[in-house]
Amino acid sequence: MLRPMSLLLLLIIALQWNVASAAEPPALSRFEAAQPHMGTRFRIVLYAKDEATAMAAVTDAFARIEQLNNIMSDYKSDSELMNAVHKAGGEPLPASADFFEVLMISKQAALKSGGAFDVTLGPVIRLWRRARRQYALPAPEKLAEAKSLVGIDDLLLDEKTRTVKLAREGMVLDLGGIAKGYAADAALAVLKKHGISSALVAAGGDIAVSDAPPGSDGWNVEVSPLGAVQGKSEAQQQQAQTLILENAAVSTSGDAEQFVEIGGVRYSHIVDPATGLGLIGHSRVTVVAKTCTETDWLATALSVITPERGVKLVDETPGAAALMVKKEGEKETRVESKRWKLLKTKP
Ligand code: ADP
Ligand code: MG
Repeated sequence: MLRPMSLLLLLIIALQWNVASAAEPPALSRFEAAQPHMGTRFRIVLYAKDEATAMAAVTDAFARIEQLNNIMSDYKSDSELMNAVHKAGGEPLPASADFFEVLMISKQAALKSGGAFDVTLGPVIRLWRRARRQYALPAPEKLAEAKSLVGIDDLLLDEKTRTVKLAREGMVLDLGGIAKGYAADAALAVLKKHGISSALVAAGGDIAVSDAPPGSDGWNVEVSPLGAVQGKSEAQQQQAQTLILENAAVSTSGDAEQFVEIGGVRYSHIVDPATGLGLIGHSRVTVVAKTCTETDWLATALSVITPERGVKLVDETPGAAALMVKKEGEKETRVESKRWKLLKTKP
């Protein structure tokens, strides 16, 4: 999931979209840039007074994302995460502020979601990744062994000493369900430090935005209905919704992009901790909240649990809203959380 990307692509396109009149200082232009990181494409859209300002901000923001990938990647053998994995069962390790924070949030996420979102699922996720590549379910004894190495209570975090310890040898961390959201938030913070108050950072389906683009009431983010990726029917087009967001984040998790078919059954890349296998059945979950760290893990967690439990979890999370669409056979259920109806949308 967090694949290192050596290719450095920096595309800056100034669209010269001046939104303020000459009397108002200074007119802001729209700039856009994209780079591959963490196995996905990170895209930044921002408003700045000139290209030099935009360029400097975007360069720093991408550097920050790269720094976080170097900490959280499970593909890089020298990442901080892999170091903790190699030393599982040993002494507590001093952690960087970012690693510690993302683990603290992840641990709380596991408790809040009743284990639906669990970053200690690493051994099971690894096995599942191999199964997907080979189009064959994991052997039962391998699966049982991997499951025995999962346990959020064995991820020990000491706030006083800021140390991390995986209590048992063989434990593996996987931050694939939260790292992109955390990185999007961090990139937005870097842009803010450069004086850029209106920006959007998108990491695949995880999007964080700050103030509305000049002269508008927010960033437009389209929420497409289930199955939209395979081609939109008329009914689905009617279901599509455009959210208008500012100083918020939105994440979508679904089986539309990443799935595998084994023995005629369609499995998702999101693992159900109960079975140790990918989720079965179509679902698409969209979550809106204050931070992308939060929307990222929530969208993953909500894909695992029932819509009823999902709604409860979201309603208990301050400022969060969610739309859950699940399809079983021909039956499609659409469940909205309490705050979903209150979101600003395009008429
Ligand atoms: P996407 O990568 O499509 O945005 P998610 O944000 O839902 O999807 O993250 C999926 C990734 O999270 C998986 O590739 C895996 O690394 C990790 N993961 C899978 N299942 C779980 C789970 N139940 N809890 C925590 N992380 C998970
Ligand atoms: Mg996620």
